[in-house]
Amino acid sequence: ETIREHRMKVLVPVKRVIDYNVKVRVKPDKSGVDLANVKMSMNPFDEISVEEAVRMKEAGTVTEIVVVSVGPQQAQETLRTSLAMGADRGILIKTDATVEPLAVAKLLAKVVAEEKPDLVILGKQAIDDDSNQTGQMLAALLDWPQGTFAYKLEKDGDKLKVTREVDGGLQTVSLTLPAVVTVDLRLNEPRYASLPNIMKAKKKEIAEKSPEDYGVDISPRLTVVSVTEPAVRQAGEKVEDVAALVAKLKTAGAV
Ligand code: AMP
Repeated sequence: ETIREHRMKVLVPVKRVIDYNVKVRVKPDKSGVDLANVKMSMNPFDEISVEEAVRMKEAGTVTEIVVVSVGPQQAQETLRTSLAMGADRGILIKTDATVEPLAVAKLLAKVVAEEKPDLVILGKQAIDDDSNQTGQMLAALLDWPQGTFAYKLEKDGDKLKVTREVDGGLQTVSLTLPAVVTVDLRLNEPRYASLPNIMKAKKKEIAEKSPEDYGVDISPRLTVVSVTEPAVRQAGEKVEDVAALVAKLKTAGAV
């Protein structure tokens, strides 16, 4: 039996994004969305990744969970939340710049080289730019197997069985570790951190790094041409009965 069969080290990248409950506003110059005074939280898919890693640790298949975030100083709060959920330590790769998925993947590949995890669990997408690219790019850079859109994860000796959400059904693949997994919405329901665990998390270590420390050029490769709001929906109208509805639709030319 290999050591890997007993002890998996897991790396979980977590991103700080606009909270999913916030009504997003586009900047007047259409260059992007307004981030001023907006509530930010952990990307919801990343909460699912952290939860899955913590459950694997509770089940005894994982020994250590390292969380990593690329972003501004406040991304430390996102790491702290992961630590309160049960991750062991964090790495903040600090930058105020916009970091595209390829640059994030390159940084993560460097962290993987340093930390040597058996498994990297990412969200399937970050809900701010909806790229759905980082996990796939990371797997390509590492030349590791990947299981995307995970619905279920099962450790199977030195392999990992990943049941994937695909169009109209499920597909199960078997990955040789080390591997990259991206998680979908139905994998689990993330826990809320308890107060004692929030207190405990304050004592856990967060290392601070910069993209330069890893020798990665994060300058953007893409130009955003414009960002627009969805079309405003017309207000609805109440009608008395079906006859009135049909009459309305007729005058509107809809029937
Ligand atoms: P994306 O490819 O941008 O849709 O993001 C997919 C996943 O990659 C996210 O759910 C995170 O797990 C990870 N990720 C993307 N950007 C970052 C970041 N700045 N810091 C840490 N993880 C990230």
